[in-house]
Amino acid sequence: MMGINRRDFLTALGVAGGGSALAFGPQVGLKVFQTLWGEDWVEVPTGLETRINSICQQCPGGCGITVRLVGDRAVKIDGNPFYPINRGGLCPKGQSGLQSLYDPDRIRGPLKRVGERGAGKWESISWDDAIKTVITKLQEIREKKETHTIAIMAGETRGLMQALLERFLLAFGSPNYIRVSDDLAAGPLDAFYLMQGLKEGLVYDLEQANYILSFGCDLLQSFWSPVQVLRAFGYIRRERGSRARVIQIEPRQSITATKADEWIPINPGTEGALALGIAHLMIREGLHDENFIWNNAFGFEDWIDDSRISHQGFKGLVLKEYSPGIVSSITGVPVDVIIRLAREFATTKPAVAIGLRGDVPSQMAVHALNALVGSIDSPGGVLVARDIPVPELPPIEPDEISQKGAQMPHIAQPAKEKYLLADYLPHTFLERASTGEPYKLEALFLYQTNPIFSSFNPEGVAGALDKIPFIVSFSSFMDESSQQADLILPDHTYLERWQDDPVYNLKGYPIIGLRRPVVSPLYDTRHTGDVIIQLARGLGGSLAQAFPGKDFPETLQYYFQKLFEQGRGDLVGQEFEEAWSKLLARGGWRSPSYQTAEEFWQRLQEKGGWWEPIYYYGEGERVFKTPSQRFEFYSQILKERVGVLAEERLKAIGVQVRGDKLFLPHWEAVKPPESNEEQYPFILNIYQPLVFAGLINASQPFLQGITSPAPLERWDCWIEINPELAKKLGISYGDQVWVESPRGKLSFRAKLVEGAMPEVVNIPLGVGHKALGRWAKNIGKNPLLIVEGHLEPLTGRPLINTTRVKIYRA
Ligand code: SF4
Repeated sequence: MMGINRRDFLTALGVAGGGSALAFGPQVGLKVFQTLWGEDWVEVPTGLETRINSICQQCPGGCGITVRLVGDRAVKIDGNPFYPINRGGLCPKGQSGLQSLYDPDRIRGPLKRVGERGAGKWESISWDDAIKTVITKLQEIREKKETHTIAIMAGETRGLMQALLERFLLAFGSPNYIRVSDDLAAGPLDAFYLMQGLKEGLVYDLEQANYILSFGCDLLQSFWSPVQVLRAFGYIRRERGSRARVIQIEPRQSITATKADEWIPINPGTEGALALGIAHLMIREGLHDENFIWNNAFGFEDWIDDSRISHQGFKGLVLKEYSPGIVSSITGVPVDVIIRLAREFATTKPAVAIGLRGDVPSQMAVHALNALVGSIDSPGGVLVARDIPVPELPPIEPDEISQKGAQMPHIAQPAKEKYLLADYLPHTFLERASTGEPYKLEALFLYQTNPIFSSFNPEGVAGALDKIPFIVSFSSFMDESSQQADLILPDHTYLERWQDDPVYNLKGYPIIGLRRPVVSPLYDTRHTGDVIIQLARGLGGSLAQAFPGKDFPETLQYYFQKLFEQGRGDLVGQEFEEAWSKLLARGGWRSPSYQTAEEFWQRLQEKGGWWEPIYYYGEGERVFKTPSQRFEFYSQILKERVGVLAEERLKAIGVQVRGDKLFLPHWEAVKPPESNEEQYPFILNIYQPLVFAGLINASQPFLQGITSPAPLERWDCWIEINPELAKKLGISYGDQVWVESPRGKLSFRAKLVEGAMPEVVNIPLGVGHKALGRWAKNIGKNPLLIVEGHLEPLTGRPLINTTRVKIYRA
């Protein structure tokens, strides 16, 4: 195998930047292809040039792509101009997707561990033997009637693949599906649930907003679908007649802050207090939308319940406790700025406030602003996405063993009184796996997740995994968690497999993309959906009956046939206005661009997806699923969950406030008891750069090469420090600096940045792998290793940016 080092890579990039690879003659051209896409290229591709539409999976954004092929080789990825999420746009991650396909360190076939766990000794085995091994293990578990002792831990999986994994567990007899999601990219979903009664479907109609108040959402880098947001940014700031104003409030001057009209630095963790200060001003000056509140809200004014007990409302609380002076002293934002923001936000309609999934009271405070300006379920505000039509698979009939197993308690379900809003928690799962309580796990399947890297406590996770006798990883890459597996059954990459991709866009309507193979699998890998079906078949009985399809593609085609039979939507490909007029189903006619299921399937492959571009406003029963069927400033869901919890329990879970205030948006300092501000004077702020906001992005050299405009900062990780602070500490640009928290210390290269607040040190997340191939292994540091991982009192989810640190020259 030809060796290519980093210098070759950079040199070749320079060559490629000068023009087409072929323009330099066959030898240079080949070198460029080898360097860009992989060492195994033995010739410059020749043959017919074709294009295939598919869906990117470098992050969960769901952009449509068009892959260019020369002969049977994929050579370039572009954006699909007709796909409604990205309309031809693509971020650098999307463009570097071929480096995942051609990664020289991909796992090329099934592997069986032969040495100690984690020792990295593997032997290749056939797929037949690998599948037989898993079936034998699962049969043993079934014979002991302990089907509940298996679990599947999966990343941001959606659509049919998630349905199949859950179906397999249900048919086998286990409740243990554990979804690991990325909270740094999520909106305030807990507030959405507590105030609107909905667990999913929160979208922001950025394209129609005139004023966007973003509380810490790095919209252009890591928020859900960066390309979609970038398009919306371009539209509202240049393309459409009136230019929207964007205000970015956060401790670090992110890319979004740089591009916004105004960046407002704020003390970390006080965004909720600022939202309440803005609410105070709006209410005091009568700038809130009384009409919306009168018709659609609950708990704004003080109120009396059925037992004649009076309760405080949002208005009373906010007027009493969150004057601009008080809020300014908490947030560090000047009083005049708070007043100006409140007036601008209230009078520049439509306006929308966007938050992050931080602590619950702060999420509620930000979300409340949208109700104050009447921006719930209205153009330019918060929308509730219409349901994605999920085609039903035939019902399953688990046998008695499976029924009993599936009714066992979820292994990751925390005690109800411990975290009031948690259904299950990945870290609870790992604790349970460690202790063997309430039962011991016998087998774990890892799908598109790498908990050892993404957790605060890699040793703890590795220790927990060590207690599970049988671990199967479906990863295509040797990541940290796969290294602990007993068996690796490598999946195809996203450019080699079939998959549906259901998403909704920023206008709140549903889209189902079709991911299809653009090349034949390069290696002896197998679609995890096929593996699941083969396992079910091998186990027989009701399990086999639960998977009637021959393989994953056949099941997928059945799935889309059911979608066709629902008679909704159309294929993507038209501009919105045209599609809209064609789909005015409620106006009495509908004219899809296909007539039969076969034609639908055929054209779906050409176009890349299906959509239904209609949003219905004013469907109160869809938008508010709270007990009052209104927007609840006073969350009755939370009140019901808290119930009659004893004082000691509230104290034990770290809930500080009492009485009605607990159920209203409010602010409380997230100050861990052990924090020692004298010894650790700075707050560690971890952020996710666009290039690494995905599971395997760090192993793509294109992305490592563009982490920073400064060449010295690439292929590494850094700490951003305010220049004044650096001067005081005797730190110069490029110095190695220790960042020490009560958990430990790591060294980083110092980068002096005007946009860093003096009390805050910023570190990007995404590198620092101990595995994952030559382009990622031992490059940079993983800041999660020094994060304390304090838990949000109501949800039990770890809060990333509450750790205090000290810094000094290494
Ligand atoms: S935003 Fe995500 S889905 Fe879209 S091109 Fe970038 S990596 Fe791919």
